[in-house]
Amino acid sequence: MLWKIKALPRCSDLVWRACKNILPVRKRLTERGLIEDPVCPLCGEQDETVVHALLLCNEVKKIWFASPLAIRINDNEVTSFERWMCCMLSRGHDDGMIMVFTLAYVIWSRRNQWVFNNKMLQLHEVIAKTNSLLATGLPDEKPQTLNDVTKCRDDCFNISIDASLRANVLFL
Ligand SMILES: [Zn+2]
Repeated sequence: MLWKIKALPRCSDLVWRACKNILPVRKRLTERGLIEDPVCPLCGEQDETVVHALLLCNEVKKIWFASPLAIRINDNEVTSFERWMCCMLSRGHDDGMIMVFTLAYVIWSRRNQWVFNNKMLQLHEVIAKTNSLLATGLPDEKPQTLNDVTKCRDDCFNISIDASLRANVLFL
């Protein structure tokens, strides 16, 4: 079911790893004796589990709500990332689910940028990055506002486009 969603492979892979509970979140690394501090590096308030890192962290809830899908994450309803995702998959339409997968990926990337590069992407940057990834992930429809494509690696393109227009096309 998860692989039917035509998100970018890296986004689907992240969602799959999150559902399997195998992301290297701090709680897990602590349990394995690799680090000592299980606390979330973004909010500093709770242990960083997968469901916290991707959904329940207050720093992350803002992103879900600010997205075009305006998703509210309710602490009382969300018990695990996998359950939440199953619920979303059973209700969401494909375009919406591609955005959900992409947002989860960007949220995890943002966390890693903070942990490893000490760089915190702001809300508007997160949404812009999500829109940019969504535009790259449309194989059968070329972005009409594509300004520049630079091949930098075999599997990586830098693409500069008007991403907000693209998002409107998808989710109106
Ligand atoms: Zn947190």
